[in-house]
Parts: sequence; structure tokens; C-alpha cells
Amino acid sequence: MIAQCQCGALTATIAPGAEGALVMCHCVDCQRRSGSQFGSIAYYPAQAVTLSGEAREFTRPTDNGYSFTNGFCPLCGSSVYARASRTPDRIGVMAGAFANPALGQPLRSVYEQSRHHWIDLPVEMAHFQAGREG
Ligand SMILES: [Zn+2]
Ligand SMILES: [Zn+2]
Repeated sequence: MIAQCQCGALTATIAPGAEGALVMCHCVDCQRRSGSQFGSIAYYPAQAVTLSGEAREFTRPTDNGYSFTNGFCPLCGSSVYARASRTPDRIGVMAGAFANPALGQPLRSVYEQSRHHWIDLPVEMAHFQAGREG
């Protein structure tokens, strides 16, 4: 399975059989990062993800004292991957970069304190007002 930016220069290839944990995030940083009303990232074991192509990275602090870095294509601006310093053994791949409607439903929804009110979510997901611990 391959995720890519809009122009195709930056890709993330997922090793066959690797399981991703899909997380939906409503925080205001993810809204600004993604340009959408929520962010959606699938987290994989780092060794299962191969990045290819030139990337630029932007790092910001998180509200629980860690940092969050997203990698984006310098040509077209699409975010493709992310790293959270709290979980250094994982690499996140932007769910939309797979452009695959069969990717599946998120396991959890976080930072619902800033969720846009029209977004209605299934009850069987795990829901958090802030981060997973918060
Ligand atoms: Zn690109
Ligand atoms: Zn977020």
C-alpha cells in the first residue's frame, strides 16, 4: 500500500501485512495543518514504512510536553507523514494520502473539545475530549 502527495514526488510505502492504527484528531493544529476540519493519520510501526522523495518537516510542541512533526512535499505542499515524539517507534501516514476509501474507520477520535459540531461519529469508536491520556 502506497501513500503519496498530490504531485507524487513524496511517497510512503507500507510493508505488506503491517497494521495501522487510524486516529482522527479534531485539534486546531490538525485543522490548520491539514486544511480540513479534522486530521486523520494512520500510525504504523516505524520499520514498516519506507519514505521516498524529498520532504520538508515542521515541528511543533504538543500540549502534553512532547513534539509533533509533519513531513510534507516541498513541491506541492501535501502532508504525507508525521512523527510524534511520545511514540518514536511509530510513523504516522496521512490517511487521505492513501486516497483509498477501503482504508477503514478510525479506532479513536481525539481532541473532540474542538470538534466541528456537524461531524457525527459512530459510538463504537473511542472518544477523547483531549489527547488519549487527557
Ligand atoms: Zn508533491
Ligand atoms: Zn491534532
